[in-house]
Amino acid sequence: AKQQRNSIIYHDKTLSEKAMLRRQLVLDLREAIAEQNLYVVYQPKYELAELSCIGVEVLVRWKHPQHGFIAPDVFIPLAEDNGLSSAISKLVIAKAAEELQDSGLLGSVLQHVAVNVSATEFNSTDEMNSLSSFIESYRDFAQYVRLEITETATLTDMRKSVEVISQLQARGLTLSIDDFGTGYTSLAMLKDLTVDEIKIDRSFVAELEHDARSKTIVCAVIAMANSFRINIVAEGVETESQLKVLRKIGCRQAQGYYLGRPMIIAELLKHLADNAATP
Ligand code: C2E
Ligand code: MG
Ligand code: MG
Ligand code: MG
Repeated sequence: AKQQRNSIIYHDKTLSEKAMLRRQLVLDLREAIAEQNLYVVYQPKYELAELSCIGVEVLVRWKHPQHGFIAPDVFIPLAEDNGLSSAISKLVIAKAAEELQDSGLLGSVLQHVAVNVSATEFNSTDEMNSLSSFIESYRDFAQYVRLEITETATLTDMRKSVEVISQLQARGLTLSIDDFGTGYTSLAMLKDLTVDEIKIDRSFVAELEHDARSKTIVCAVIAMANSFRINIVAEGVETESQLKVLRKIGCRQAQGYYLGRPMIIAELLKHLADNAATP
């Protein structure tokens, strides 16, 4: 019994410590946003037929002055809970527009620039309207923006999601469903959502070679996406053999450390130049 009580006390302590840390992080994050202290990296997306880069995904980075790098998986949920996601999206778009607008890559190498949208943001009509207007203010950049929303974000209100997605598409944006397969209604949702792209979650890619059932699911998703004429991308490709399997089962596009890590703009330019040089 004593041990139990101790463990509860310990538990309480870490909880309150965690809560305190979280409160401080929110303050720090607010400040980082206000001072534009977040930055972005770009992960290339490849067409597998010719192994050419056809797009990039923009990923936000935060280097905390005391704690060092904090993963988006940690601070994005904090941002969502504290009304900061919309500010982060705008910052990410502003940085990407600024860095890519004069790169000569838009429309030549890069067919699109994918930006991640938080669930809370996607589910707020006001925030999505404000976001699309913000994107449109970058005139030579807006047409390349693709919004990635997670499958689970669309599930809150399916009918509304269908509407929001078609409104965004009417404004010229393309839409991608991120982490596809993790939402438990994956197949049914494709019946209703007219998205431009599906990204197969990296957990399926990781199991591809060892788990026959995962492979079967991926095959089915690829076949379905192909017949719906939805672009399909495999996420998290880390090995050559995964790439081989994906090619064999008809997957046309992929992202992953094996093909290209997320990199700052200077590295991206070098990566693309190096790739263009090697046939
Ligand atoms: P995501 O959109 O699914 O992004 C893919 C994540 O997988 C990225 O992590 C990327 O660095 C990582 N990744 C890419 N290739 C590989 C691979 O081969 N193996 C493994 N193990 N991982 C790989 P990151 O940058 O830490 O982002 C994590 C998540 O945080 C993202 O998942 C996205 O949901 C969210 N996020 C990132 N940037 C933003 C942003 O600007 N706005 C919002 N709202 N969310 C963001
Ligand atoms: Mg994404
Ligand atoms: Mg993903
Ligand atoms: Mg993810």
